[in-house]
Amino acid sequence: MARYTGSVCRQCRREGAKLFLKGDRCYSEKCAINKRHTPPGMHGQGRKKQSEYGIQLREKQKVRRAYGVLESQFRKYYDLATNMRGITGENMLSLLERRLDNVAYRLNFGDSRPMARQMVTHGHIRVNGKKVDIASYLVKVGDEISVREKSNDIEFFKALKEQGAARTVPKWLELDAEKLTGKVVALPTRDDVDLTIEEHLIVEYYSR
Ligand code: SF4
Repeated sequence: MARYTGSVCRQCRREGAKLFLKGDRCYSEKCAINKRHTPPGMHGQGRKKQSEYGIQLREKQKVRRAYGVLESQFRKYYDLATNMRGITGENMLSLLERRLDNVAYRLNFGDSRPMARQMVTHGHIRVNGKKVDIASYLVKVGDEISVREKSNDIEFFKALKEQGAARTVPKWLELDAEKLTGKVVALPTRDDVDLTIEEHLIVEYYSR
């Protein structure tokens, strides 16, 4: 499947926001957003005020990039969200949060969403004991997400075990850090999203 292979920090600079795509580096002084808060490209500094459409487009792109989803799939989440009960923007965010790569990230099975996605696609993650290597798999309440036993020897997971309870997870998930196993105890709500998002702008973008 096609995916973006350029500089991830460039994406943050383009959206003018931290998308937390590089793990620990995002919390350090090396973060490109801390160093240069201007859009990339030779005209980056000279950009004028954005139109209403431009603001909506940027918000949509920001969320799409943060979750690492291609446009066609992102649009599908929107369509799905419009057919659900409740507020479309919030439904959409809940669907994005339920993606297996995001759940792996929120359980700390990856330092960033891109890393967690790799953990999933490389077969390190199990759902209810079975290998699931599809990053877009949507978890449901009661699902148990775990790290494959063989993968426990990977340095990253060893360190995670050592940190144990020091790692926090959102309230819709439970983590047994010793066993590297998490459980979905509720569906994520708007309050569980850890990014600054104005989802109404995305709904307005697709409603045009
Ligand atoms: Fe790069 Fe992370 Fe900073 Fe984004 S938040 S610019 S990915 S270091």
